[in-house]
Amino acid sequence: MFTAMRAERMEGLHFFSDETTGLEAIVAIHNTQLGPALGGCRYLAYNSVEDAIADAMRLARGMSYKAALAGLAQGGGKAVILRQPHVANRAALFEAFGRCIESLRGGYITAMDSGTSSADMDCIAQHTAHVTSTSHAGDPSPHTALGVLAGIRSAVRARLGQDSLSGVRVTLQGLGNVGYALAQLLQAEGAELLVADLDQGKVRLAEEELGAQPLALDAVFEAPCDVFAPCGLGGSINQRSVAQLRCAVVAGAANNQLVDAEMADQLMMRDILYAPDYVINAGGLLHVALTHQGVGAGEIAGRVKNIGSRLDSIFEQSRADGQSPAVVADRQAEQLLYSEGRF
Ligand code: NAD
Repeated sequence: MFTAMRAERMEGLHFFSDETTGLEAIVAIHNTQLGPALGGCRYLAYNSVEDAIADAMRLARGMSYKAALAGLAQGGGKAVILRQPHVANRAALFEAFGRCIESLRGGYITAMDSGTSSADMDCIAQHTAHVTSTSHAGDPSPHTALGVLAGIRSAVRARLGQDSLSGVRVTLQGLGNVGYALAQLLQAEGAELLVADLDQGKVRLAEEELGAQPLALDAVFEAPCDVFAPCGLGGSINQRSVAQLRCAVVAGAANNQLVDAEMADQLMMRDILYAPDYVINAGGLLHVALTHQGVGAGEIAGRVKNIGSRLDSIFEQSRADGQSPAVVADRQAEQLLYSEGRF
């Protein structure tokens, strides 16, 4: 276990169990160099406790990088609650988890994630103040979409040399909470939209409301466009799809867009500019973290817009070094996280 922790440069791992509610939970705290660890709480069934620990550690590490490059005084953490086939009282389970978080005395702040809802966060909030994305805090998705818009603007400027998004052809893979909001923003800027979603109702709505052109699910990669925006699940850029792409830019909201690190080099070899996912999709995290800190809406909007400037600097450095934007982003994050040589 300690070897695995060292490999991930993990500061701490906390295990909790509560007999009354059946709670079994893990909190991974990756790095608190810049501030208390913040990251979502997953409520999922895992094949083994080892899988759950590995998931918590991997995700906590990702949160450190994301928060650092978003300019937040926040570290990276993640919680996992092991989902059992039957839970007698869900509210009691999350309340018990709230007491666990309180015992960490603010070293970890939790939030909504896969399998959890703002109602679950409300239960946690009954026992600790170290929780965000409660029903009171609001949906982060529109803020994520605004950050992605700023990022697309930066990538289009860097790769196509134009400031306006008017007439820019964007393929959106996924029209969920973020994807649809992004489609609305792009349409307002005069972009031309090509869209696909597993849910045909969402595709029809985009056709009717936004004049979008529908695509079959497997046609998204080959459709000629300026920007390919992955806004569905992770892993959409793989060995097969990277060869099919006919775009100049990949910039979207999805987490873990590249199936592995090699894809970043392959995109670069094909002269496709990639906006690193955890940089461009940090708008939701900024909203969640800054709302928790009591920052006002106007300042939060400005900080979300700054995602564009962060990407400007990553693209510039990438050009200067001849390295992919993904490598440059990781290096910039590591400089912030390990600048005082704590590890
Ligand atoms: P969502 O579940 O609301 O929407 C996802 C949409 O993608 C759904 O409509 C789904 O039908 C569609 N989809 C899934 N697979 C697809 C495929 N193969 N082809 C086409 N469509 C597909 O999720 P969301 O909140 O909009 O988040 C989208 C992505 O952005 C996720 O990867 C998420 O992790 C990431 N993200 C979201 C936020 C946020 O604030 N919600 C923040 C950061 C990152």
